[in-house]
Amino acid sequence: MTVERFAVIAIDGGAGTGKTTSAARVAERLGFCYVDSGAIYRTVAWALHQAGVSGIDDPGFSDRLASLDLEIRPAPDRFRIFLGGREATANIRTPEVSALSSKIAVRPDVRDRVTALLRQAGGSGPLVVEGRDIGTVVFPDARLKVFLTAELPVRAERRHGDLARQGIDQPRDQVLRELDERDRRDSSRDAAPLRQAPDAVLIDTGRTTIEEQVEAIVHAWLERSAQV
Ligand code: C5P
Repeated sequence: MTVERFAVIAIDGGAGTGKTTSAARVAERLGFCYVDSGAIYRTVAWALHQAGVSGIDDPGFSDRLASLDLEIRPAPDRFRIFLGGREATANIRTPEVSALSSKIAVRPDVRDRVTALLRQAGGSGPLVVEGRDIGTVVFPDARLKVFLTAELPVRAERRHGDLARQGIDQPRDQVLRELDERDRRDSSRDAAPLRQAPDAVLIDTGRTTIEEQVEAIVHAWLERSAQV
């Protein structure tokens, strides 16, 4: 199945592996548009919660999901997410929404909706897309696939810092526990689990600086492109 029409760099990995920073910087370096697929799952989770959906077994789940007016629109540097015509805000970044997003992400109907939006974005120009299943499911023909990993304490420390910068003060052990729980759920679900694609380049972000990660990805991209 070929779903890639423009060049796609797929960057997957668990929570706190530094995907967002790497992906956004690689996109900037190459002049590609950046897409944060996790933010779309977060927006869906937030919207369903606001709509009173109590959990993934709520009988009204599919109807509520179908009625969400969800859109992603290209800006020069990245895709922006809109719900009911209004751009998603920082309230999708709370620990509560992190947990909710990973819960709703097990449902195939949620995944189909987000995957369709992402593939639509793939028709608009070259992209760097970050997520969990980008190289395995959404863009299996991506010209470059990268899988980021790091030890749990490193990721928890990084996430703790991210939250602190947003003014959210969560104890380190709680951050670690929630991150671990979310990764287990993301890796063990039946639909599009978090998994390294066999042809992905593996980078341990606990042992490399951001600059080194970006350099490695850009280098791999230029090498791949020269082979085409
Ligand atoms: O990347 P981020 O941590 O913002 O993603 C939030 C949640 O969305 C993840 O824990 C995961 O459950 C879900 N997700 C997913 N597939 C993606 C991106 C995110 O299932 N491609």
